[in-house]
Amino acid sequence: MVRRLYIMLILLLVVGPYPSEAAAKSLTIIHSNDMHSHFLDAPPNIDYTPSITGDDRTGGGWARIAAVIKQVKQERSNPVLVVNAGDFLMGSLFHMLSREQAFELRLLSMMRYDAVGLGNHEFDFKPGGLARILASARGSGKIPPLVASNVIFSAESNKDDALETIFSQGVVKPFLVLEKDGLRIGIFGLMGKDAAEVAPFASPVSFADPIAAAQKMVKVLRDTQSVDLVICLSHSGLSENPKKSEDEILARKIDGIDIIISGHTHTRVNDALQINNTIIVQSGAYGKQLGVLDINYADGHVSLNNYRLMEINDSISGDADIYNATFLKVIGDYNWQILKIVPKDRNGNPIDDLKRMRIDADRQKPGIQELKEWQGVIAYIQSFTDTDANGLPNVPDKYRGKLGRNVVEASWNPYQLLKRGNYITWLTLAALGMGVFILLGMVRFIVKKVG
Ligand SMILES: [Zn+2]
Repeated sequence: MVRRLYIMLILLLVVGPYPSEAAAKSLTIIHSNDMHSHFLDAPPNIDYTPSITGDDRTGGGWARIAAVIKQVKQERSNPVLVVNAGDFLMGSLFHMLSREQAFELRLLSMMRYDAVGLGNHEFDFKPGGLARILASARGSGKIPPLVASNVIFSAESNKDDALETIFSQGVVKPFLVLEKDGLRIGIFGLMGKDAAEVAPFASPVSFADPIAAAQKMVKVLRDTQSVDLVICLSHSGLSENPKKSEDEILARKIDGIDIIISGHTHTRVNDALQINNTIIVQSGAYGKQLGVLDINYADGHVSLNNYRLMEINDSISGDADIYNATFLKVIGDYNWQILKIVPKDRNGNPIDDLKRMRIDADRQKPGIQELKEWQGVIAYIQSFTDTDANGLPNVPDKYRGKLGRNVVEASWNPYQLLKRGNYITWLTLAALGMGVFILLGMVRFIVKKVG
């Protein structure tokens, strides 16, 4: 027995632990893209009840995404990275307040995003607008790490100077190096060709060729920063047309990018693509899906372990903190009192009387610029059928259901009381009658006494 143990000990000493297996590491990357300010999913936002499961059909919602991020982190024993590939702005009424409030960046920070790239829509309020959004987020103390590697500022124009200043202060960096469980991870942001072309408001900012910029970043990260793996947050995208599938082209042309987190084309990638040792994923749009990518790292190589595109829906109980931040607080402060927001016209002048203003349906015609979303709201209401033929669309019965939002309450408005008598009308009339009766009695009594 002792001899056998002795032999085993010698064998262990000779063979030793397997070095390659000991060096193998796992990493999980949670990713989103093109969330477009959809904190509450697409209308009807009012259907969105993330604190209750199984009661609505809405998809997406940042409170639910936050809950999934927390859950995945709990399930994994390995490090988890949370990243976004751009276009977090534009697409709901909330973005109208992004320059003052920067809800999007503040929430991404609260949701613990490790890196966020910029998309074309981040430039919709022009470079000055993006500078204000970044400054507001920084001022609130809640801003996620941001990356953009191919932004070029104009030397001639001063219209992008405010943005250039805030970039130079390190609010947006060309790349980040994060250390997780001994792994050095390099992350850089990239604006694709098509995205740059559809960002007319970015001027005088322009964007360097994404392939050349990526080549440069890989060299810097691998040679100077000695990273183990490289992740590109690419606002470029995927297409069925191979000539337009920019992220596939990027993977083919550039060696050394381990993972491309793709965005811009709103593509649902159900199975991770693998091209030239590069894994490519993208998770649809509007936060309706969230990608969860598990990889292994060993001997300088990244391999795909598992990939899942999770549906963000009513089966997920939303994170209360994010729900309060997105729903209760924001809606309470702003949405119900939306007319308290001072909208501005195309020339930046405040509009004080909304009733007189037209909706900006046609950008070619002079008029309002920032109110066009009202058209969406009105179109939504007009999509209901006029069931009682009074010339106004009626709220569908499904909204009268168990959620009970369309509660009919007795009104104290005198006009309503007269128009539609209810128990309050009769109570009021009875009280009035009693009052008059008592008053008359008193007058009679006084007259009698005086007389
Ligand atoms: Zn985009």
